[in-house]
Amino acid sequence: MTAQTDLPSVQKAAVVPKLGGGVNIVSDYPVPTPGENEVLAQVLYTGVCQSDLHTAAGTAPGADGKNITNIKLPHVGGHEGVGRIVSFGPSTSSAPHPDLKIGDPVGIRFLARICHECEFCISDREQHCGKATNHLHHEDGSFQEYCVLDRNYLTLLPHDTDPKVAGPALCAGVTAYKAVKNANLSKGKWLVVVGAGGGLGHFAIQYGKVVGANVIGVDTGKVKEEFITSLGARFVDFAKSSNVVEEIRSITDGGADAAIVTSGSPRAFSGAVDMLRIGGTLCCIGIPPGDVYLTTPVATIIIKGLKVIGNLVGSMAETLEAVELVRNGSVKPHIEVRDFEELPKVYEMLEKGDILGRIVLQVAKE
Ligand SMILES: [Zn+2]
Ligand SMILES: [Zn+2]
Repeated sequence: MTAQTDLPSVQKAAVVPKLGGGVNIVSDYPVPTPGENEVLAQVLYTGVCQSDLHTAAGTAPGADGKNITNIKLPHVGGHEGVGRIVSFGPSTSSAPHPDLKIGDPVGIRFLARICHECEFCISDREQHCGKATNHLHHEDGSFQEYCVLDRNYLTLLPHDTDPKVAGPALCAGVTAYKAVKNANLSKGKWLVVVGAGGGLGHFAIQYGKVVGANVIGVDTGKVKEEFITSLGARFVDFAKSSNVVEEIRSITDGGADAAIVTSGSPRAFSGAVDMLRIGGTLCCIGIPPGDVYLTTPVATIIIKGLKVIGNLVGSMAETLEAVELVRNGSVKPHIEVRDFEELPKVYEMLEKGDILGRIVLQVAKE
């Protein structure tokens, strides 16, 4: 268990000096030193999530709907990273994973550290731990060549994981996977995915197909149509349809069993509720920036017996389940690999909403 000795002292990183001030690729960001019960991972690939964009722009909302301001500066985002261990900090006798080796593949996820003791940590809902830190607001993430990770909460990936495609499963993938779980679907049930062509959406379609659901993807344009139908879903173009809700009700003979909304528009949420059949479930994922409200009459929810469920990523166990479905080929992330330095351009593309699936940045040169 010897550490790689030729580690540099500075590295390339995507640094946001102040929120809303843009992102700069620098070459002189310090390589962190792993402390007690920490490891240092070299980042191989990282996905780019919408939340990275919103955090860098200073528009990421917290649970109260207001913008989160308690963000470490300079900010280094990235929480869909796949790396390999290159060195170890000093470990105590109780350090977990005694067999860890240099080169072991690890994930860099949204969650960085948890308390392991609270009601959420002991019930597989540790993403709600009040003492948790994450790679979006508190700690530097995968938009750098080397990242420190807590050995007590390490995302250990199978050795045959493809580092290019596994990254997006660590945030977009598990978020969509958990939403499909919350929707409690089974063979032949109807699932509508609103915003189906994006990172979250294309995962939601595929995890929905894994449980045997009939999936309808709502999005717009010829390119998205071809993409969504290639994933095995029916396509409804919200810009072309004279009435999306009626179209969904007609296809599903009365309404869908579940709708997963990845889009940030208030209209998308209330429209999705109207697409549901009696007893249906609305799954909210993909946090829209700003004050976005669900404007559905309470009477609708009561009389139709609807459920409204949100989820913030998923637990470690759920993450590894989501990754396994990618590893075994049941779910295929649609990715386009670009150079790390293209991050500012990727943010512009994300803003316009014209990315199919996910863009993955190559951080370490192989
Ligand atoms: Zn994310
Ligand atoms: Zn906790």
